[in-house]
Amino acid sequence: MSSKIGKGQTGAPASRTLDRITHKISKYMTYSISNIFNQTLRIFTVAGFVAVWLLYGMVGECIADRSPLGRQVKTIVLDPGHGGDDHGAKGPGGTLEKRVNLALAGTIASTCGDKYNIVLTRHKDNRLDLPDRTAVANHHRADLFISLHTGGSFRHSTEGMHVYYFEEPKGSMPEYPLDTDRPVPWDRLQDRHGSDGRKLAFQVHRALKERINPAMDQIQGLPLAVLRGAAMPAILVEIGTITNPSEERALKSAAFLSATAEAICAGIGNYFE
Ligand SMILES: [Zn+2]
Repeated sequence: MSSKIGKGQTGAPASRTLDRITHKISKYMTYSISNIFNQTLRIFTVAGFVAVWLLYGMVGECIADRSPLGRQVKTIVLDPGHGGDDHGAKGPGGTLEKRVNLALAGTIASTCGDKYNIVLTRHKDNRLDLPDRTAVANHHRADLFISLHTGGSFRHSTEGMHVYYFEEPKGSMPEYPLDTDRPVPWDRLQDRHGSDGRKLAFQVHRALKERINPAMDQIQGLPLAVLRGAAMPAILVEIGTITNPSEERALKSAAFLSATAEAICAGIGNYFE
């Protein structure tokens, strides 16, 4: 009796210990399998997320950069001149050039923003240094860079519209070899695009002359600092002279800005054709 009890007393704890060990092993195995499963699931989820993100990015890029016909949408960077404490020229009635330039850039963006990817160098009244303006265009790998001004600042013209492309005065700079593989210094970037800039200037000039100002005949190549660092065809357009009282009135008119924007968009369209 006592031995049975003794066996039972010694056998039961041994069995419980075995049960406990078996339970722990089973629990550990279940935990490990579940853990491996969870980790695998997590890896597949992350991998799936990354794949979808990449695919979305690629598709998004295609949608952003291409028209329904599959042609690449051109990027045009518009540069509203001046801004912040740099007011540009001032009209006799107090109109500030920086405001006209920004208004025109916005009007061009709304006029032909459905055809082109239009980027502005500034969206509000903030100061921007000249190299930062072309840096925006270079960053976006723009197809065209167009700096917008009114007369009376860069050139003290008395009236009318003017279109400028980049050109160094003859003999002022050593000719930069166009066929070199060496990196081009930033201040020589426009050298490679000067002739296309000239073509763009002629198209925009022609459209402005046909639609806005038949007497307009000002088109000129100048070594303008704001165009120098542009790695794409670049022009500067002065739409009227703000220091002229009657032109100042026109520059404040939404109808005039709209017609001018239409002409500039038409000139851009003709350049790309
Ligand atoms: Zn200006």
